[in-house]
Amino acid sequence: MTQISENPYFKLFSRQKENQYKVAQTTYNQRINKLNALQRAIEFTYREQINNVLFKDLGKPKVESELSEVYQIIGDIKYIKKNLHKWIRKQKVKTPLSMLGSSSYYIYEPKGVCLIVSPWNFPFNLTFGPLISAIAAGNTAIIKPSEMTPNSSALMATIIKDIFDEEEVALVEGEVETSTELLKLPFNHIYFTGSPNVGKIVMTAAAKHLASVTLELGGKSPTIIDKSVNIKQAAKKVIWGKFLNAGQICVSPDYVLIDESVKDEFINSCIRWIEHFYSKEPKASNSYARIVTPEHFKRLVSHLENAESLNAKIITGGQHNEDSKFIAPTIITDLDKNVSLLKEEIFGPILPIVSYNTLDDAIDYINSKERPLALYVYSKNKYFVNKVIKNTRAGGTCINNNVIHYANHNLPFGGTNHSGIGKSHGFFGFKAFSNERAIVKQHFFGATEFLFPPYTSFKEKLARLTIKWF
Ligand code: NAD
Repeated sequence: MTQISENPYFKLFSRQKENQYKVAQTTYNQRINKLNALQRAIEFTYREQINNVLFKDLGKPKVESELSEVYQIIGDIKYIKKNLHKWIRKQKVKTPLSMLGSSSYYIYEPKGVCLIVSPWNFPFNLTFGPLISAIAAGNTAIIKPSEMTPNSSALMATIIKDIFDEEEVALVEGEVETSTELLKLPFNHIYFTGSPNVGKIVMTAAAKHLASVTLELGGKSPTIIDKSVNIKQAAKKVIWGKFLNAGQICVSPDYVLIDESVKDEFINSCIRWIEHFYSKEPKASNSYARIVTPEHFKRLVSHLENAESLNAKIITGGQHNEDSKFIAPTIITDLDKNVSLLKEEIFGPILPIVSYNTLDDAIDYINSKERPLALYVYSKNKYFVNKVIKNTRAGGTCINNNVIHYANHNLPFGGTNHSGIGKSHGFFGFKAFSNERAIVKQHFFGATEFLFPPYTSFKEKLARLTIKWF
């Protein structure tokens, strides 16, 4: 068995470990200064470069980069700056009468040395987002971004080096082996964003050291559409949410469950909105992204081939080009229940449409799968919406829209079971990187001393009275 000291990242980890109490004791102003430095780097110094590398790595249109990466990070920082003073002060709580003579409070103290492992679909947002929370909470952090977006990872490494000492924040570039080595170290907290399968590997590694984890995972997020809504408007939102970043979004509507009676109207509206957003020639549209790597391109094409081999109907799209990693916005129906598109998270621009006859059938269908990260419901009918929410579980839900719940810093963001453990964003992100330490202060003689041994019959009566009255 190799010694932990032989781990390639042991020295870096040890330096952060030594430094952790110094970083933990940074004041509100010092933490805000760090966040300001990060904000300046992203908002001004590196902004153009960020947009450029995102285009190189993902063909991300500039407007999408600005809104889903730059704006999100800046918004996160601004929100934390406004609220951090409330979160880092003592949180006073009541003390029961049976503990007369003492007072109680708890504090959010930093967990210590944290590992942040991030994916490729929103490289900056999903790396700097958790980092901002880690810094606000007073932690040190080692970051491992995705190897799939190398230009973004290299630029993030430059930004981190520019702002932080390695003893506080360091970014390590590398492939799976790098994560594997890092995961062997006894971090205090591991914050992982990625697929459920790798999430299980991360949790297994964390268990060795009993490190706490935040797992921001994915899965098949359903959209359920009731006949009571304006179908044209529902289709508009679904098409926007689905084909943003070419469907490579964790909260992307994975598949649609539509009331059979409005299925044709919905499909026709979807086709019109695709043409409206991306023209009749999406390949030439500068509003449409590309697939991240040749491997993911092949994975998505094999989904299409599998569906076609099982007699599915491609309503629109289906065209693809390996050289440019382009897959047209695709809508597909008449799906056999064994088709891979209905089994695995799609994470690409293919939208399967499944019809239902009764709401119970739709709910059963959703519940036959793992719990999703998001569930979207479109209906004007309160009963319909409540029934869906009460009889399913999901990390988050939008009613009559999709994706946008991600952007509200006041809401917790994260999954449940297969789609994740723990929450992020705003206060919830700060909390993920903090330990709630309970503190009781004894001011003078404490009532509990009446119950110290030796246990006489008087103390037995006192114990009974305590149970009854306090
Ligand atoms: P991934 O799980 O393949 O990779 C994520 C990170 O883990 C990368 O940095 C990668 O290098 C590392 N990694 C990969 N295999 C590993 C292994 N065997 N051991 C240790 N580390 C390993 O995910 P991805 O392809 O980058 O991203 C897509 C997935 O992420 C989708 O499932 C999506 O839903 C999910 N996701 C979730 C969120 C969220 O906030 N919940 C956000 C974005 C993406």
